[in-house]
Formats: sequence, structure tokens, C-alpha cells
Amino acid sequence: MKGAGILKKVLVVEDESSIRSFVVINLKRSGYEPIEAATGEQAFEQVRLNPDIKVAILDIMLPDTDGFEVCRRLRASHPKMGIIMLTARTQEMDKITGLMTGADDYVTKPFSPAELTARIDALYRRVGGDEEEVTELVRGPFKLNTRNRTLEKNGERIKLTQVEFSIIKLFMENPGKALSRDEILNAVWGKDYYGEVKIVDVNIRRLRLKIEDDPTNPTYITTVWGHGYKWGY
Ligand code: CA
Repeated sequence: MKGAGILKKVLVVEDESSIRSFVVINLKRSGYEPIEAATGEQAFEQVRLNPDIKVAILDIMLPDTDGFEVCRRLRASHPKMGIIMLTARTQEMDKITGLMTGADDYVTKPFSPAELTARIDALYRRVGGDEEEVTELVRGPFKLNTRNRTLEKNGERIKLTQVEFSIIKLFMENPGKALSRDEILNAVWGKDYYGEVKIVDVNIRRLRLKIEDDPTNPTYITTVWGHGYKWGY
């Protein structure tokens, strides 16, 4: 199912809040999870907090440092991260410098949302952010194969529907993270789903019957009261 799985995080480093909001809104519309930073320092902090960021968009002029320095340091610590520089039209030389400091691409301001999204999509494919990257996830007694779309518990195959598979994949990709019902709904059913969020509870109840040792006292998919669910392994 397309759209299933973890939201792809994109770091947005831009001190101008109007441009940052513009980028953030458009990333969300395109199904990404933007992580915002207004300074270089915030950028490094966010990368530390979100080790699964695979693509970063860097403005060049920042209050505490510049995008090239951020790029250089990100490259040093995260060699596989995809990096896009945001440049002003007058900064022709910056493009070259940016690419030399290790950026993968650049987008010239003003840019259209479609243009930026297309670049991010392309970069995500290149850096292997797509779900094809990991084909086997092992958590506790469970082994999930994303290519064959199968789940095993202690070596025994558990029969799942496509939706159940997408839910458990989302959980296993986000161990220990409380996921809200809306997050699960968006990731599994897609943003265009018009039904009730209750569908999430229904499917999780059924999933628990299949995977829990004791479905009345679930330990793998636990309830986070007033919020959603969490994968415990
Ligand atoms: Ca700036």
C-alpha cells in the first residue's frame, strides 16, 4: 500500500519564518514530516534528536552560521544524508560552492512547491529513503519481511490483511514511539481517507488477536491512553 510506513522526515533549516512556513506546509502536503530549524545550532540539535532524517534543506544565510558550514558538518556526521541548498538568484557562485561542500542539489529562490517537492522526492529515492531499503525488520519474537509482506512470530507465519501488515510495519519501524490514531490513519489509509478514525482501533483489536501472547493483556501493541498506540519491542 502506497503511503504506508513511517513519515519521511525532512530537515528545514531557514531563519526566515515566512519561507520556512511555506516549505513546511508544502512538505506536509506532499506527505513528508518537516523538522524545523531556524539556526545552525538548532539544525544540529534536531539531527541529534531525529537520527532518521534522510534529507535536509539548507538556507545559506543563517544568523549563527551559514548553510555551507551546516552542510559540511552534516556531511561529516551523516555521509548518506541528502542535502539541498536554498540559494537566492543572485548567488550563482553559492551554487557551485554548495555543491562542492557536499550538497546534492540546489533550489533557487523563489521556487515553486512542486519544484522543491520533486527535488526532495528524487533525493529521497537516491538516498534510499524509500521502503525498499529495509526488507527485514526483527523486533522481539517478530520478523517482518517487507518484500514478501509477511510476518513471523517465533518462526511461525501469521496471516495478515494488507492493512494489518501496514499497521504492524509502521509500529515496527517506530519502536517505542507513541503513535496517535491520526498518524496511524494517515500512514496506513492515506491522507485522502474519509472514514472514521475508529477504523484504527478496530484493526488493532484484530491485530492483537493474531499477534499478542494474551490479547486481553497486550504487551506488543500497547494503548497510550487518550493518544493512540505504541509498539513495545
Ligand atoms: Ca536566511
